[in-house]
Amino acid sequence: MDTSEKLFEQAQKVMPGGVNSPVRAYRAVGMTPRFIQSAKGAYITDVDGVQYIDYVGSWGPMILGHANPQVLRAVEQTMKNGLSFGAPTERETDLANLVVSMVPNIEMVRMVNSGTEAVMSAVRVARGATGKDKIIKFEGCYHGHSDAMLVKAGSGALTGGRPDSAGVPAAVAGDTLTATYNDLDSVERLLQANKGQVAAVIVEPVAANMGVVPPAQGFLEGLRALCDEYHALLIFDEVITGFRLARGGAQEYFGVKADLVTFGKIIGGGMPVGAFAGSRELMEQVAPTGPIYQAGTLSGNPVAMAAGITQLTYLNDHPEVYTKIEANTTWLADQLRALEDKYHAGTTVNQIGSLLSVFFTEQPVTNFAGAKSSDVARYAEYFRHMLAQKIYLAPAQFEAMFVGNAHTQADLDATAAAAEKTLAAMANA
Ligand code: PMP
Repeated sequence: MDTSEKLFEQAQKVMPGGVNSPVRAYRAVGMTPRFIQSAKGAYITDVDGVQYIDYVGSWGPMILGHANPQVLRAVEQTMKNGLSFGAPTERETDLANLVVSMVPNIEMVRMVNSGTEAVMSAVRVARGATGKDKIIKFEGCYHGHSDAMLVKAGSGALTGGRPDSAGVPAAVAGDTLTATYNDLDSVERLLQANKGQVAAVIVEPVAANMGVVPPAQGFLEGLRALCDEYHALLIFDEVITGFRLARGGAQEYFGVKADLVTFGKIIGGGMPVGAFAGSRELMEQVAPTGPIYQAGTLSGNPVAMAAGITQLTYLNDHPEVYTKIEANTTWLADQLRALEDKYHAGTTVNQIGSLLSVFFTEQPVTNFAGAKSSDVARYAEYFRHMLAQKIYLAPAQFEAMFVGNAHTQADLDATAAAAEKTLAAMANA
């Protein structure tokens, strides 16, 4: 029994499934999760001292690599003055200014502590501002675990085989309508059938929680037009895409304007931070200036703000990061597609920006039905082979591979070589 196995046994006695977030339990890949000791740059090291090339990156925040020296220094310096005051600090304004300057079409920001909170609050703003209750989301998109969003959800909810959670009141779920990703007609039908009742359409501008599914040409533009026509707000959930696709996120990358935007992950540099943002007119309807209540004891935490400011400042000052990580990810996707041509292991590779997924299906994956056609047992096999070769991937088919600035060409070469061994073995199996 290795150390991870021992620790996992103990963990399972005191935490459901031994974890604090379901996908970490490795159930979808039939293994014991690696317990992590440390991480640096592109590498993560488990408690037995095995080092892996990491493509999870804490599920997105570590775009500059683990234990970035500048971020660590900012955290260290800030924490000396105290960890939390529950009172305003200058850093909150600094991070808000930075976010407003980097992201198009937003004038004001409210900080929260997670992506879940960001979305939950943005949905409340949409409902409060429009006076309407219904929300349209897309099947297979994940927007955190608030009640209204756990309807046909992606990520861990999907991996667990229960995209609709127990414990969500039917009345709440009833106000969440689900459309098909990349299918504008499915959205228009819902808007027609629920005329005057839809507060917002919420979308992952690149779906990354059913595996990576890029928006089809015209899909986001079409959503914008439909929202305008039916007087619904358009919410871009940029918890993954924010500061990743481009400095200004998906709005900049695709040139489509959202009314409300949510952030998480990268905005906190590895600390628990989320945010929602929009026009002054919408955001001033939030308490204390407006009637839409939202609050948080630890929101705007000084140490978390310091980490976020440092990471975002670096990204703002180094736009070449985006060119590099996109080129590297495109390279890796090309390699993986060439391996499919060579070995016929039955994969489809989706990639956009620094996000990539290898689906174990031969049909194109443009929506939830396509993603669901994947053979999850074969993904699990792929995952186990890759892990044995020290490549640390998401332990589930319906997640993204995150490429970051710390990955070198040597790391990518090693990854492609491991994938070749794996796919060759799987093709012959
Ligand atoms: N929205 C999206 C698009 C996400 O990917 C996630 C988490 N992966 C969330 C919201 C929820 O964020 P958190 O886990 O920080 O609550």
